[in-house]
Amino acid sequence: STNASSIEEPIKPTFHVDHTQLLIDGKFVDSASGKTFPTLDPRNGQVIAHVSEGQHEDVDRAVAAARKAFDHGPWPKMTAYERQRILLRAADLLEKHNNELATLETWDNGKPYEQAAEIEVPMLTRLIRYYAGWADKIHGLTVPADGPHQVHTLHEPIGVAGQIIPWNFPLLMFGWKVGPALACGNTIVLKTSEQTPLSALYAAKLFHEAGLPPGVLNIVSGFGPIAGAALASHMDVDKIAFTGSTATGKIILELAAKSNLKAATLELGGKSPFIVCEDADVDQAVELAHFALFFNQGQCCCAGSRTFVHESVYDEFVEKAKARALKRVVGDPFKSGVEQGPQIDSKQFEKILKYINSGVENGATLEAGGEKIGNKGFYIQPTVFSNVQDEMLIAKDEIFGPVQTILKFKEIDEVIRRANNSRFGLAAGIFTKSIDTANTLTRALRVGSVWVNCYDVFDATIPFGGYKMSGQGREKGEYSLKNYLQVKAVVTPLKNP
Ligand code: ADP
Repeated sequence: STNASSIEEPIKPTFHVDHTQLLIDGKFVDSASGKTFPTLDPRNGQVIAHVSEGQHEDVDRAVAAARKAFDHGPWPKMTAYERQRILLRAADLLEKHNNELATLETWDNGKPYEQAAEIEVPMLTRLIRYYAGWADKIHGLTVPADGPHQVHTLHEPIGVAGQIIPWNFPLLMFGWKVGPALACGNTIVLKTSEQTPLSALYAAKLFHEAGLPPGVLNIVSGFGPIAGAALASHMDVDKIAFTGSTATGKIILELAAKSNLKAATLELGGKSPFIVCEDADVDQAVELAHFALFFNQGQCCCAGSRTFVHESVYDEFVEKAKARALKRVVGDPFKSGVEQGPQIDSKQFEKILKYINSGVENGATLEAGGEKIGNKGFYIQPTVFSNVQDEMLIAKDEIFGPVQTILKFKEIDEVIRRANNSRFGLAAGIFTKSIDTANTLTRALRVGSVWVNCYDVFDATIPFGGYKMSGQGREKGEYSLKNYLQVKAVVTPLKNP
């Protein structure tokens, strides 16, 4: 196998990290306490930079700045066209600084640089242009009420949006959050993940260069239970949007309810089925199922983490899935051709290794991988289990790592029942040549996204979100605007109806 070897000396990025302070009211400032925390390089656990740690007082300051920018403008009071032009200029700057952003993303997160530079940052740029397009297309309705009344609705921004994002796609998650909120005229306090605070600070600085007024987009780095909780429970925050684990999502909703009943959007965990039907081209199915699970080191909320394979193609599929995993190129994410870098941190690394052990102990067949790689950083071998049973932990829990679990099925009704037998409902993949099978499965699966003969298609226009415990609300596309708009009904009497 090629990916079992140890990982060589990490490549040093030739890049100076300029922005490590909090971004409040248009200025980079220290935290009130002066405290910092280190952000680590997942390739070796070494410190990249010390970042200002936002705490209660800093969240208060950031919310006050956002409040002032909302209540006194100019942002919500500008013409929509002016807001659009600022967002378009920001997108141009993101594009211009594509490689700096991608470098920060890879350094802080460990994902392959080529993927950051060619997929994630360009997707962010595209997304901001998409939302710029919405800015001047948001309008209410004329309502045909009974009686002599003239009735219309105004679609207004909600106010100050609190946004809490995870570490797996720091820049894309930043975009999914700030894009619709800004297009609708809200102001923002965004808390990045403590694992990956760097890239959003850089991106937010570019928005200011593009002409975003001070106080509209504030970035607070810091820890979840301190800065995140302060934001979710703040009385002056009108809306909270969160992406992360289901466990933390529950806390967010509770804090929102206990404080001021702020509206909440949640994008949470998953255990998404990828269903390979009996008519599938096995080579193509193997490649797509591999991508669905292993992309981004397996750190995707929508990872295709239950690979259901029809019994007639099962043995061939397992053999080929194993061969593909053994060929996966693991290494320093700055090296070209590398498909898989390290996991984000030691906590996730240990958790994944524990799940792998539990799979072995529960009697699943370890076909490939199963071990860490080297003694530095958080590298894990691409791992494949076959003979996985529904009640095993590795088939039920979100592992969030490079661990493929392959399950066998016989009947379509059976796979529908088993695929839906999960507390999650984020996404599903279907691999078949039959339109009838695809339609049957598509209608029956209780999930927010179905990818037929494709996976992880994340166009800015396509809504994304979860059924069941995978979340509430939809991000991206037109649907996301609802998260950031209030509807005001305006009624006036008609004198001469
Ligand atoms: P993970 O366990 O994968 O790190 P989390 O859901 O804990 O996922 O983290 C996602 C985001 O939620 C991060 O920005 C994190 O700081 C934040 N967070 C974690 N715990 C809390 C909390 N109690 N209140 C508010 N935010 C939190």
